[in-house]
Amino acid sequence: MVLNILQSAAIHRVKTELQLIAKWHRILNKAKRRGVQIVITTDSTPKRAFASMGQWVFRSNCGAGVAADTRWAARCFACGTIYPNVVFPADRQAVEDALVVRADRGRNWRPGVTVTELEEENVKRGLPPRNARGGVNAHL
Ligand SMILES: [Zn+2]
Repeated sequence: MVLNILQSAAIHRVKTELQLIAKWHRILNKAKRRGVQIVITTDSTPKRAFASMGQWVFRSNCGAGVAADTRWAARCFACGTIYPNVVFPADRQAVEDALVVRADRGRNWRPGVTVTELEEENVKRGLPPRNARGGVNAHL
């Protein structure tokens, strides 16, 4: 069982930002060869990450889902937009600790949902409130 919500590196199976950029260029170039118009732009407006089925993502301006990462800018593999300003919840670790007791399909979080609400949902489902990461109240 994976004990965190996946970020861009794991989702795209890369280890470094340079590897992510190389993969992004490969995918965009493939689309260009098929005749898709790609204009690489940067959108610095804040994008709020949410957890969807065990992955940190957000919606690109083009509508595609984009993998988010706390360490580097996000890149849309559909339209080429670079997003350097992805916002994660301040209590991301606590959100993850509450989500990882669930199966992947239940690992969902939207901005505004509190850790307490996630933990109460877990208990209602017969799950532990959270994954104990170095102690029950490690995130408090
Ligand atoms: Zn896009």
